[in-house]
Amino acid sequence: QKKEIVEASATGVVNSPPTEFVGYEKLDVTTKVLGPPGEKWLIVEKTPFYATMGGQITDTGIAESGSRVFEIKNVRRVGTDVLVHWSDRDFEITPGSEVRLVVDADRRHAIERHHTVTHLLHWALHEAVSRDASQKGSYVGPDKLTFDFSSAPLTAQQKRDVEKLVNEKISENAAVSWTEIPFPEAKQRKDIIQFFGEKYGDTVRVLQIGGAPQALNGYSMELCGGTHVRSTGEIGPFRIVREEAIAAGTRRIEAVAGDAARIWAKEEAQHQQERFEILVRKKTGLAPLPVFTDTVQTTEMLKQIDARAAHLEKLDAEVRGWEKTHAKEAEADLHSRGAQIANELAMSKTGQKICVAKVPKADAKLLQAVADALKQKFDGPIVLLGAKENTVALLAVVPKPLTSKVQANKIVQTIAPIVGGKGGGRPESAQG
Ligand SMILES: [Zn+2]
Repeated sequence: QKKEIVEASATGVVNSPPTEFVGYEKLDVTTKVLGPPGEKWLIVEKTPFYATMGGQITDTGIAESGSRVFEIKNVRRVGTDVLVHWSDRDFEITPGSEVRLVVDADRRHAIERHHTVTHLLHWALHEAVSRDASQKGSYVGPDKLTFDFSSAPLTAQQKRDVEKLVNEKISENAAVSWTEIPFPEAKQRKDIIQFFGEKYGDTVRVLQIGGAPQALNGYSMELCGGTHVRSTGEIGPFRIVREEAIAAGTRRIEAVAGDAARIWAKEEAQHQQERFEILVRKKTGLAPLPVFTDTVQTTEMLKQIDARAAHLEKLDAEVRGWEKTHAKEAEADLHSRGAQIANELAMSKTGQKICVAKVPKADAKLLQAVADALKQKFDGPIVLLGAKENTVALLAVVPKPLTSKVQANKIVQTIAPIVGGKGGGRPESAQG
């Protein structure tokens, strides 16, 4: 995208008159083409297309000229106020002729829902977390929003509080309005949030939520040039889907609203199903996952997601507890089997100087258990061989006083190649 700007700058776009942006009110306008002929980019007199700025991403849509239709994939601000429209093929539109520009309205409305709810989120963070939770950046697209702010990690309770406050403000269906005032006036107002150090023009737009429209008495007021819904009710259900660190002292909230919340819920239900299936493979007889239906209202879907999340948490604990007990039982079982085999071996090898034995269906763990028990009863070198599911395990143990004559690692190194493997260890103990 930088390359596009450089390319356009080089071709003299910066000398074009500023483009009039009419996209706060209109999504469909017919306007005059200013140039250039036959390039992948187009400049016009006025446009309904919002160019990427302040976190809000570009509009997309189409340009119609006669019977030809060109897709507009990206709109960038070049120089100060020239809005350049980009397509993936050359615009065959003659400068001076008329072109109809139409913004993808569904996509724009999804962006506006996320943009407006970003203001509510900023306000709610101040209310529920800290007045010092100041904005560090944001992304506003049709799929989601992210909001970066300076803060310590949010507690689970704070996250719930913020989400609840935002959803309350959405239910109130408060008016969203904007008005232009001189920048020096805005600067005086402590209740209007602005980025200090940011360059603003002589007049600035104040986005206001709540209060009497344009009276600058809302509960949320910020300098903002983006596009917004007209009332908070248009936003739809809001959900925080992630809260994480992106730098020391900087947190990022990822959230969705409206249709995007619906899409998120469907995806989340799928993830929950996958988590459930993993748990079921570990332990049988788990209580089934509460049902999820994608034909109900979004708020209902989100409730189902919450119920399933709580259920999964319980099952998770159940499986973890079961695995813990199970591991203890398995270990006790291994020791008693090892002791039993060691007893039999000790009896059959009475009087012998070395114990070489094959242990049926034994893996390395069982051989170790047998050797541990046998060492107590037999004071010569022990060489054990086990075979289980096509793998052969070797274990040699030599009492320390005998290691000057025989070494366990040497024994294993000699035998292992015969059974097609390798092994090693110390003179007292080795495995293969
Ligand atoms: Zn805004």
